[in-house]
Amino acid sequence: MQSREIDRVREMKKITCKELGGACEQAFLGDSFADVARQSRQHAMEMFAKNDTHHLKAAERMKTLIATPMAMEEWMSEREIYFNNLPDVS
Ligand SMILES: [Zn+2]
Repeated sequence: MQSREIDRVREMKKITCKELGGACEQAFLGDSFADVARQSRQHAMEMFAKNDTHHLKAAERMKTLIATPMAMEEWMSEREIYFNNLPDVS
């Protein structure tokens, strides 16, 4: 019964790889945190495939977070709040 959501204006926000725990200024554009998180993961995979030292180091830092499910969850929701507070670009 909550079909009102569809009527909302599509808000596009921009967040960088660095802001999502990565290592570069590559920007991802999306209307939801899940959307940009998926793009950043894909970007990270590409960088790992190229053996990019900066991204591998960033991933190393993230590993300690991933090893602690609670910390990872906290970090993710923190990033999501950060993303939701970003100004819309459209
Ligand atoms: Zn990057």
